[in-house]
Formats: sequence, C-alpha cells, structure tokens
Amino acid sequence: MLGTMQDRPLALPHIFERAEKFFPHKEIVTGTATGERRRRSYGDWAARTRQLATALDDLGISPDGRVATFCWNTDNHLELYFAAPCSGRVLHTLNIRLFPEQVTYIVNHAEDEVIFIDRSLLGLIGPLLGTFETVRHLVVIDDGAPTEFPDGHDFLEYEDLISGREPAEFAIEDENRAASMCYTSGTTGNPKGVVYTHRSTYLHTMAAMLADTIGTCERDVILPVVPMFHANAWGLAHAAVASGADLVMPGPQMTPPAIADMIVEEKVTLAAGVPTIWMGVLPELKGRDTSALRTIPCGGSAVPKSLSEAYREQLGLPILQAWGMTETSPVASVAGLTSAMDDLDEDAKADLRAAQGMAVMGVELRVADQVTGESLPWDGESQGELQAAGPWVTADYYNDDRAPQSFTDDGWLRTGDVAVITPEGFVRIVDRTKDVVKSGGEWISSVELENEIMSHPAVAEAAVIGVPHPKWSERPLACVVVVEGEQLTREEVLDYLDGRVAKWWLPDDVVFIDEVPKTSVGKFSKKDLRERFADHELPET
Ligand code: ADP
Repeated sequence: MLGTMQDRPLALPHIFERAEKFFPHKEIVTGTATGERRRRSYGDWAARTRQLATALDDLGISPDGRVATFCWNTDNHLELYFAAPCSGRVLHTLNIRLFPEQVTYIVNHAEDEVIFIDRSLLGLIGPLLGTFETVRHLVVIDDGAPTEFPDGHDFLEYEDLISGREPAEFAIEDENRAASMCYTSGTTGNPKGVVYTHRSTYLHTMAAMLADTIGTCERDVILPVVPMFHANAWGLAHAAVASGADLVMPGPQMTPPAIADMIVEEKVTLAAGVPTIWMGVLPELKGRDTSALRTIPCGGSAVPKSLSEAYREQLGLPILQAWGMTETSPVASVAGLTSAMDDLDEDAKADLRAAQGMAVMGVELRVADQVTGESLPWDGESQGELQAAGPWVTADYYNDDRAPQSFTDDGWLRTGDVAVITPEGFVRIVDRTKDVVKSGGEWISSVELENEIMSHPAVAEAAVIGVPHPKWSERPLACVVVVEGEQLTREEVLDYLDGRVAKWWLPDDVVFIDEVPKTSVGKFSKKDLRERFADHELPET
C-alpha cells in the first residue's frame, strides 16, 4: 500500500523562495578587493538572482547548460548558486587554485557554456581562455580590483548583464535533475566530476541544519571561509539561505587578520574552514571579543587535537570536526560529543573531538577489509577502507571510465580513507590509503604521528611521509615547521614522541622545512613532500 502524502519535488527553488519571502531583511556582507565590505539584503539578492536567471536565458544558455564560476565567496557567487540551478542549468564551480591544465580539463570535460569570473581573478584564468572549447560567453564580476582585461577576448560585465532584466519564475519538476557539479581536487590524475541533484542538495541542506550536525539557524551569522568551489562550501551557502541566517562572505579577503576582523566585527556565530585556516587565525583573535562565536566546523583534513584544544583554551570553544568528500556533498560525519560522553575527562573528550565522529542522519558508513571487502566490526581497532552510502553520496563520476573502481558491488562509495569505527559509532580516520606509511607489512598512521608532533609547543606544522627503505619498504620521515622564534632539534622531536607512540612508529628522521606545501584547497600536500624527499637518505637506526 502506498502512503497518502503529496509528492512534491525536493528542489532548490523552495529554499530560494523561503529566503525571499521570510528573510528579505537579512544580510549578506561581502569582502571586496578594495578592502571594504559591501552589504546587501537577501531581498535585493533574491531580486538580482531572478534577473540573472533571465540573463542566462537571454544569453542563450542551454536548458541544462553548464554555468561555470571562477569566483571567491561573494554575494554575486551566491546569486549564481541559485540562478543557475533554479532555472534548470548546472552550476559548475571551478577551483581557482587548480593547476592550469586541470582547469582547462574540467571546463572542457563539463562543456561549460559560460564562465563568470571575479575581476581580481582575471590574471589567473586569462592565459587559459584560449584553451576552452565550449565556452561562448565570459562575464566579469567587478570586485573592485584594478586587474586588466586580457586581450583578444570579449567580456560582458555582470552588472550590465543583469540590470533591467525581468525577474525569472523558477520551477523544477524533477528533483533528480542536475543542480550543480564539482570536480575533486585531483591529487592523483585528472580531477573527477561529481554531479549533485536538486534532491541531494535539498537533503544535504536539511542535514546541515540538524542540531546534532552543524545546526545552522536563523539567528546565525555564518562565515564560510571554506571556498564555494570546495565541495559547495560544505553546504553552508545553501544552509544559510534555507535558515535565513546572515552571511559573511570573505571575497578575496582571505588573510588571517582579515578573517579575524570579520569574526569580531560582524559578530560571526559560525565560521567554517580547513585546519590550516584556523592555525593562522588563532593568534589574530588573541584578546579580542569572540563571544558571539558558537561553533567552528572544520574538516577537509584531520583536525589536530592540539589545534582544537588551543581554541578551547583561548576562546572557550573547541573546533567541531566534520568529515566528508566532494563525493559526499560533502558532510557525512560530525564529531559532536554525545550525552554519554559528558563525564569523560577533558583529555578523553579532546581525543574524541580529534576523531571524525558519527555518520549524520541519512548517511551510512562502514569499514571494509581491504582484501576481502568484508565489513569489519565496530571495535575501534579493525582498520579498513571507509565506505559510504546515502542520498547525498555520489553513485558515479561524470563521464569517467575510472568510476567502476571507486564503488563496491553493492553500490557504496570507496572513499580511499583508512578508518576504524568505535563501538559508539565514531569514525576515526587512520590515514588516506596513499598516505599511510607501509613499514614491513604494517601500517603507520601519518595522521596520528602528525597529531603527536603538532602537540609540541614549538611546532607550527608537521607532515609525515613514507620514504623508501631497503629493509622495511617505507619508513616515516617527519617534516617539521618550527614556530617562529623557537628552536628544535631532531633529537628533541624524537624524544618528545618516545612514549607517545609505539617505538616502531618513531620517524627514522626529522627534517625542518619553512612551510608544509598545501594543495589547492589548503590541505598538506604530501605528494609534493614525497617528491621533494624521494632521495632522502635515512640515517641508520
Ligand atoms: P580531494 O580528494 O581532492 O582532497 P576532497 O576535499 O573531496 O578533495 O577530499 C576528501 C578527503 O579529505 C577525504 O577522503 C579525506 O581523506 C579528507 N578529509 C576530509 N575531512 C577530513 C577529516 N575531518 N579528517 C581527516 N581527513 C579528512
């Protein structure tokens, strides 16, 4: 027997119209290239979004044409976030920090018809414009930067494009229609495309609004430091609109002092970004009023326990760790502590916050034996590949023959992460499969070693990589960045680790570097370190 409920599409126009109707007075603040902040009401944003959709019609963009953005986090980017999908098109957020040949690859692979470009980013994309095969229009959004327009191309100006246009009506009948797409940052090989549907985005938005997840609400002032091209700004751009929360968009103002100023001056309640962002921002917040801040969601790579604890000590607020991937929309698990954990001591709580947490409602996670593929027990010890399933987890890659190896026979996503799950259901990522140090048939978690090294007060950043070893196949090498003005020796690092990790985990060597290289989305780039230290001679131990 079927139920009696109405079958209405779970689609983005509902989220958009909710903000338009209920929250026109709420505000989107945007950092500009001039250093100033622009303020715009949701009412104004909504009217402009409807005009932008009409402009897409008038430009002749196909009914499901890909609309690319090469933009910072701004109010205008948020207009595109809704105008493209609510008019049936597919928003394609381009990662501004990808290698140039990867940008060319994804624009051509997605068959983008139009690209919207922030003026301050014209210099980055300018040399690539001739390599795009399907792009028919280039639209420049003036963000106050004086960047020259590259020669040899025609550009439309965003404000001219939308001004005076009629407002479009939005209707999406099929919730499984594509809404947006995003390519993984491609640490190995070319990036792979993931296509989100209206339904998956709608459900993911609702999940982000759950109290035990991120819990966005109308009273929030949300600062997504995580870029809108990095896995949908973790769903915050949609969740803020759905909640009617004020938004603070950093635009090109991405330096730690600028972010700290926004947190303090705009009375931000929720600020989200990758760990490297929060490492830089913490000293800038010292002695300032951060009392409005209620949560700092953070993910993309493991949140060091020491970082979360430093926030707890300085701001009274530990970091809220979340785990996810471009492939999972991305939010899949969150490490909020449960009531059963209330009586634990602070150190045990900090340990749990350094894990990746519990699957959010709607997502299923499991660990599977790497060889047999069998599901492993949730005992906190059995390590295996983390696999994910759920309505906002991708079932495929867009037009990609590499897809089959990424999914199990029963349709779960193979994440490429190695993890354990504890009896209470907390996922703890041991490592990425390709980063784990394979020493004599046993695995050493680079994440755990880094966590321990970074808890040393004189260490600013640390990354551990496996380097070739004649007997053990690989041994760990610690690459350490020392806090400015401090001193540290190889022996001091090793002594510090002694007793904190198993003896055979102790790195064979420690090198001191100026900075850990970062990927396009601010993660430690171990690939770069592995190349740099490929011939590193390990001392006899
Ligand atoms: P890319 O694969 O190009 O790095 P994603 O941002 O989609 O792009 O990366 C997803 C991966 O990031 C996960 O598979 C995992 O390895 C890592 N990751 C994300 N969040 C966390 C976290 N909280 N702790 C540890 N690793 C994380």
